[in-house]
Amino acid sequence: MTLSNGYSKGYGHTHIDAEPITDFTVDGTNLHCVLTGIEEVVVEDRPIPEVGDNEVLVKVMSTGICGTDVSYYSKGRIGTSVIEQPHVLGHESSGIVYAVGTGVDTVQPGDRVAIEPSLPCRDCRFCKEGAFNYCKHEKYLAAPHTDGTLCQWYACPARNAVKIPSNLSWEEAGCIQPLAIAIQVARRADLRPHSHVVVLGAGPLGLLCMAVARAYGARTITTLDRSQERLHFARAYAATHTFVARSPEPDADALEFHARFAEYLTDVIGAEDGIDVVIDTTGAEAPIQLGIALLRTGGNFVQAGLGAPLVSFPILQVATKEINLSGAFHYTARCFEDGIDLLERGLVDVRPLVTKTFGLTESEEAFKAVRSGHEIKVVIRNQD
Ligand SMILES: [Zn+2]
Ligand SMILES: [Zn+2]
Repeated sequence: MTLSNGYSKGYGHTHIDAEPITDFTVDGTNLHCVLTGIEEVVVEDRPIPEVGDNEVLVKVMSTGICGTDVSYYSKGRIGTSVIEQPHVLGHESSGIVYAVGTGVDTVQPGDRVAIEPSLPCRDCRFCKEGAFNYCKHEKYLAAPHTDGTLCQWYACPARNAVKIPSNLSWEEAGCIQPLAIAIQVARRADLRPHSHVVVLGAGPLGLLCMAVARAYGARTITTLDRSQERLHFARAYAATHTFVARSPEPDADALEFHARFAEYLTDVIGAEDGIDVVIDTTGAEAPIQLGIALLRTGGNFVQAGLGAPLVSFPILQVATKEINLSGAFHYTARCFEDGIDLLERGLVDVRPLVTKTFGLTESEEAFKAVRSGHEIKVVIRNQD
């Protein structure tokens, strides 16, 4: 398959849209990467969807692969969220608008857009209150009962197509959705300039949280991870301090272990009163316990990592230190726009994060590459 207009191979440092598109003929294949069983994927040509009223037809150019896609690929589920096959994965996509339905005036053919993956019902109590992220009947691309965007042509409501600037490569555009999540995490953390921030876990979400913290003027950005490789990467990318994560011995006093470790860390970081904001992206017990120990009185803890469903949690310290505890899962209004703004102004650079790209027909290799843990962010080139 040939590269379409505007598409760039390789990762990182690419630029875009040499000539504007003038021909918006919609034809060709609409290859989909379809999950047909556990670790079973087929490439299937399906009809190109008709564009309905208030919808846009997007020629999908890139899709970031997420840990949730890999969980569905390898286990068919995330916790109680179970998919039925056949199912199309992918929810971190961008592309070019080729056709618009009646009533669409926000975008036009030729516009480059990111696709917001949430389809709230707009009628439930939470939607009526404007909290679309709490929608009781939400459909979310690639989640159970809703196909995702690992395909070549995708029709979605025009309101889900968010314009992106011409100076973003398609690889960068494939990172906008997780960046929007990192922005939501920063909002939940009430992340302010001059704060001492600790991000537990240096995977893709952790790195994006560090990038946002830097853009927002954090004073120090510290990360802990078990992988030296990831710490090395984080230090070059956005962290000011990195440490190898440690766990207490099984028979040790965990609280005492973490108290001592936290004292050492805050001393090295120079945060004498403790850490202002701790973001956990691991969902694992030891880092979470350390995070609470690290916080200053009145500090903010955000649980963003999806890990163990149950951990032993230092709840007494949450009370005595008056810690603000919150969870973050779903982006909210204007997180996409804010992410695009950070990218456009060069305040966040996601290019180093994209360590590998694959064609759509190689999606299975892409899932395996994410699962290997050796890549940071893997992006699919949907037209290849
Ligand atoms: Zn995702
Ligand atoms: Zn709703």
